Amino acid sequence: MSDAQDSIFSLILSGKIPSHKVYEDDFVYAFLDINPLTRGHTLVIPKEESPTMDSLSEDSAASLGRVLPKICRAIMQVTGASNYNLIQNNGESAGQTVPHLHIHIIPRYSDSDHSFVWNPKSINHLDAKDIAESIFTLIK
Ligand code: AMP
Repeated sequence: MSDAQDSIFSLILSGKIPSHKVYEDDFVYAFLDINPLTRGHTLVIPKEESPTMDSLSEDSAASLGRVLPKICRAIMQVTGASNYNLIQNNGESAGQTVPHLHIHIIPRYSDSDHSFVWNPKSINHLDAKDIAESIFTLIK
């Protein structure tokens, strides 16, 4: 995967390639996905060139979080969809194809047939205690 500054989304941000813009402020840009899973499939990106969530600054993260609900509400109102998925892939093996952080907002209609395959397993509480405490300690 190349750097965020080389990505197609940086070209969209700089206006070098076109997009169907649905929202813009100083920190965030949102536009329609070129290959939508459903009508109104939208990508929300920070203007900061961060490939994945873990490298995003707190200011950009706060800006993203602040505008997501109103973008979701506008998409629901315009499309009539009352259900939707937010998907955010980090890294190639997690399904990320464009190395500039993006959040998918995907409206779901009564005839939508897209799926996200989950194979859930039972939790191991011993391991869960260990990993939860380790993460908690690191973030604190
Ligand atoms: P991901 O697989 O999570 O990295 O998603 C990347 C998304 O970017 C895909 O859904 C693509 O259809 C979308 N995409 C790629 N190029 C463009 C573009 N020029 N304009 C809009 N969406 C794009």
